[in-house]
Amino acid sequence: MRHVCKICSPYVPGLTGDAHADSDEVATAERVDNLRVLPMRGPGRRAAVEKMKLWENGRTLKVKFLDGNAAVQSKVEAIAKEWEAIANLKLEFVTSGSAQIRISFAEEGFSWSTVGTDSLTVGSTKATMNYGWLEPNTPLREYQRVVRHEFGHALGMIHEHQNPDALGKIPWDKPKVYAYYAQQGWDHGDVDSNIFEVYDEDSTNHTTFDPTSIMEYAVPDELTIGSFSIGWNTEFSAADVQFMKRQYPKAAPAMTEITVGTPVSADLAAAGEVDSYHLAITTAATYITTTQGGTDTVLALHGPNDPGALLAWDDDRGKGANARIVRKLQPAEYWLTVRHKTPGGTGSYSVGVKKRA
Ligand SMILES: [Zn+2]
Repeated sequence: MRHVCKICSPYVPGLTGDAHADSDEVATAERVDNLRVLPMRGPGRRAAVEKMKLWENGRTLKVKFLDGNAAVQSKVEAIAKEWEAIANLKLEFVTSGSAQIRISFAEEGFSWSTVGTDSLTVGSTKATMNYGWLEPNTPLREYQRVVRHEFGHALGMIHEHQNPDALGKIPWDKPKVYAYYAQQGWDHGDVDSNIFEVYDEDSTNHTTFDPTSIMEYAVPDELTIGSFSIGWNTEFSAADVQFMKRQYPKAAPAMTEITVGTPVSADLAAAGEVDSYHLAITTAATYITTTQGGTDTVLALHGPNDPGALLAWDDDRGKGANARIVRKLQPAEYWLTVRHKTPGGTGSYSVGVKKRA
């Protein structure tokens, strides 16, 4: 069968039904701030938890081709490396040994990628990314469109039409959409999970739907009610660049060690930045963790011994707009994250842990 629609069908655990129960744990083991607490407005102590699949900021990811033509491989590599100018990551292409991103061309007609750290849940000899129609003579624009898009997934981005803010903004003609994708072998469930379903508020690329995102599919007019279409996006949108610079900021420190009794001064220099700290507790006691300074911070405590376990969080129980968590802790490893209360907020602060007298 000839594949008429050249779109990406990513393997997204949790959305496709091929869920790996441990994918959230794998994500937080890689980067503690993949679990981010967002205080909600209104009464009560409600919070939303963002679940991201980002790699540790600043890390080098190894990328390996499992098969394919050398001319095609070198084009894919050159375009993939454009992401290095946006995100604070290195993509090191290797020809032997292990690699976090493993690219195949074997599955013809389908292009897809796992999302961020979900690649760690795939068997180490299997592909985590596939290109199903790139040939040596494929036009450059098509290489750019599909490679930028698949590497966006590999670095943790989801499909933009599955942004919760996209709900209701694309007037899908559902029977036509089912019929269209049936031509490439998708059943109703495949269409529902890849086209119609949106994510929870907790893992989006952008706060508002961005139809110009490299992570948006083309939406043909004949699949919508009335006159509505989105063309093939081949360029990074301004919001794509801004989002990924925020997730992988150049200036941010990696995980900082914090010890009881010694506060650490830090700066949320970029909008959306999240600072992470590792705390080793050796004596069982009640500990008071606070932020200080004029910045409205949100503090979260993770552990024991599992960065994916959110133990406590606070917004304003400290002095001024600062956060304060009082908790009895056993000897174990813990993690702290500090973020600004508002998505665009920046500012300096200090964070400290002390034993209650
Ligand atoms: Zn995709």
